[in-house]
Amino acid sequence: MDNQNIRQTPVRPNELVEPGEAFTQLEKRRTTATTGGASAHYDVIVIGAGQAGLVTGYHLQRRGLRFVILDGGARVGDPWRQRWDSLRLFTPARYDGLSGMPFPGPEWYFPTKDEMGDYLESYAAKFSLPVRLGARVERLTQRDGAFVVEGQGGGKRFELSAAQVVVAMSSYQRKRIPAFAKELRPGIVQLHSLDYRNPAQLGAGGVLVVGAGNSGAEIALEAARNGRETWMAGRDVGNVPFEIEGTASRLILSKLVIGFVFHHVLTVKTPMGRKLRPTIISRGAPLIRLKPKQLDAAGVKRVARVAGVRDGLPVLDDGTVLDVGTVVWSTGFDHGLQWVDLPGFLGDDHEPRHASGISTTHPGLYYVGQHFLHSFSSTMIRGVSRDGARIAKAAAERVAELGETQRMIAA
Ligand SMILES: Cc1cc2nc3c(=O)[nH]c(=O)nc-3n(C[C@H](O)[C@H](O)[C@H](O)COP(=O)(O)OP(=O)(O)OC[C@H]3O[C@@H](n4cnc5c(N)ncnc54)[C@H](O)[C@@H]3O)c2cc1C
Repeated sequence: MDNQNIRQTPVRPNELVEPGEAFTQLEKRRTTATTGGASAHYDVIVIGAGQAGLVTGYHLQRRGLRFVILDGGARVGDPWRQRWDSLRLFTPARYDGLSGMPFPGPEWYFPTKDEMGDYLESYAAKFSLPVRLGARVERLTQRDGAFVVEGQGGGKRFELSAAQVVVAMSSYQRKRIPAFAKELRPGIVQLHSLDYRNPAQLGAGGVLVVGAGNSGAEIALEAARNGRETWMAGRDVGNVPFEIEGTASRLILSKLVIGFVFHHVLTVKTPMGRKLRPTIISRGAPLIRLKPKQLDAAGVKRVARVAGVRDGLPVLDDGTVLDVGTVVWSTGFDHGLQWVDLPGFLGDDHEPRHASGISTTHPGLYYVGQHFLHSFSSTMIRGVSRDGARIAKAAAERVAELGETQRMIAA
């Protein structure tokens, strides 16, 4: 694709932020509490400046709310840039734009991960979203009725407070690796899919990819095409039964599946969506781009689940021991919300308790980006705009509600 549109507006990361001392000064000037306690400087603090946080910011801005977006990363778009080198999105450009800014280029182009990262950076710049980079939140708690956000930024600690907080990030923040991984021989190269970049990282000998979801399948295919003997372990997650990049997909199937089923049918509002939600959350999505026949053709061997380690080597459920040089753990992620210090915010399933992103335990707390937040599409670019708009509306209504209460108290 000619991606000049993305690159036409080069953005230096620090143009997006109010850095260091300037930020601190600005903080001091923002002393007017709108709601919930004397030190509440913002109507809303958004944590995370990925697509979830940026699009939520876009909608908060349109509603005239005062907010800041905090992110621990160095540059907007980095979660995308830091994925493996050959990654191209499985969603075409027509489903890769956020509210107010379509993804540039032909609608059936499948962007690279860097183009997606650059798009997000341009999005933040286009709407002058108040992103504060290098600001890692280490604790979210409540004091005197306000949320308190504590963390590190620019080598200093910060503490901000607000009546409302949006936790805006995917459920893919931390690696999940089985405990028996540490029993593997030291000579075996081990990587999580979050750290995989390209085949140059693979050790000598065969490669075992553990986990057969979208990431595992793409990495296994790349290893096999690179001439490595490759095994892929794990349960079959199923696959979307058409070629995502084919003509039929363009004409109808992508529109039907990504555009309609993932977004309007598989939602918490439908019996089918509610039934499938727990399975999708615990098992992940079906293969979207890859087909089993492509893996077979490349020579990827499908094997049973990895049960543990024997004599320093991975052993499968059926007792087979694999003598491999590399294990790629494509075993999923943890939402990484250990820094949230709010009693009872997680349910028995260790997922945040919410209704379509609105916390059911802490009024004024919201989530955007988490898997199946409202619909199957919620963790995808396609669904996050609708979720961000809903949360911004709820936040604006709460500001109005609390403002009215304060006026009544003052009167
Ligand atoms: C390999 C892979 C491929 C994917 N491909 C597609 C695709 O083709 N199409 C599609 O629609 N979706 C795809 N997705 C799903 C989804 O679009 C991406 O995961 C996307 O990055 C999610 O964006 P996000 O903003 O919700 O979260 P993230 O991208 O995870 O961003 C979260 C942000 O929050 C920040 N953060 C986290 N914790 C803190 C903290 N404590 N303090 C401050 N900041 C913090 C991080 O620095 C980060 O910038 C893919 C996902 C993966 C893993």
